Amino acid sequence: MKITEHIASAKSTLFSFEILPPLKGASIKELLGSIDPLMEFNPSFIDVTYHREDYVLKKRADGSYDRISTKKRPGTVAICAALQNHYKIDAVPHLICGGFTKEETEDFLIDLHYLGIENALVLRGDQEKGEERFIPKPGGHAYANELVAQVHAMNQGILLHEETESLPTNFCIGVAAYPEKHFEAVSLEEDMRYLKQKVDAGADYIVTQMFFNNQHYFDFVDKCRAMDIHVPIIPGLKPLATARQLDILPEIFHLEMPEALATEAKKCANNAAIKQVGIEWAVQQGKELIQAGVPALHFYTMSKSDSVHAIASQLF
Ligand code: FAD
Repeated sequence: MKITEHIASAKSTLFSFEILPPLKGASIKELLGSIDPLMEFNPSFIDVTYHREDYVLKKRADGSYDRISTKKRPGTVAICAALQNHYKIDAVPHLICGGFTKEETEDFLIDLHYLGIENALVLRGDQEKGEERFIPKPGGHAYANELVAQVHAMNQGILLHEETESLPTNFCIGVAAYPEKHFEAVSLEEDMRYLKQKVDAGADYIVTQMFFNNQHYFDFVDKCRAMDIHVPIIPGLKPLATARQLDILPEIFHLEMPEALATEAKKCANNAAIKQVGIEWAVQQGKELIQAGVPALHFYTMSKSDSVHAIASQLF
């Protein structure tokens, strides 16, 4: 079922979450073990992130190093198929521009279609490690709006090099948005113009970057509606869990860490106490968002479900 159909038929705010494929070599059992406790809250869908290739240095016998390209978290498509099979729940693979030619993207989408996967979150991806800015693979897409257009064209039966009536895919297309602005954009207004381009290219819904101050989300939704962006906007939430995240989350995701949350967290003697503060903060965020009638609360679990379980048990 499509995410937009879940939203349209819902009587109240839905629960969903995002997981990461395990590190290469780890068992899928651990991943399923982190998902199992969340099933009691009837998630409507589970997102699975996509991770492009990274580099590792491998020492040669002569002491010099080889730079080896490797994917540290492969398996997005297979995990989606396993989730749909195991839990009978809609899995949403993330699809990125980085590292893909358009032809490779087309084949990836055909795999998804054959597996009965009807949703995809369409993203650009970040720059490769060591690069200053995002560089598309030759023959690939430079921005997410182009990738949205490719998926949308495929939904009309238009492939890259042939037209077909035998493969009408019907992907529901999600895209990312940043209530506090994407870090590369010069202004939120410019960033939102590009967001509108993604919606005009065929995106059916939006998922936001995490935020800890709901006002950013509410202001952002108002601005979207004023710009004629009318698709559902799903808020993304991540509970604070460690002292380190007080600095690292704003640094990586370019977001505001509210003073009140930081002050409470800094009073804590250890990470277990910070985790509890993070849970309480996210519960308050969730209550206010549900009250405002948001379509779903989407949690970034980082494949650790204990905080999200504690939050969901108070909200759903
Ligand atoms: P875009 O929409 O392409 O925007 C990128 C930047 O370019 C923005 O600054 C925008 O303003 C600008 N821009 C957009 N279109 C144009 C244009 N046509 N011309 C000029 N400028 C333009 N990354 C992963 O690698 N894997 C994941 O699984 C993953 N999941 C994510 C899930 C969510 C919910 C979110 C919010 C992010 C996720 N990311 C993931 C991170 C994401 O890939 C990065 O934030 C990336 O830097 C931007 O992706 P985007 O799709 O928003 O890009």
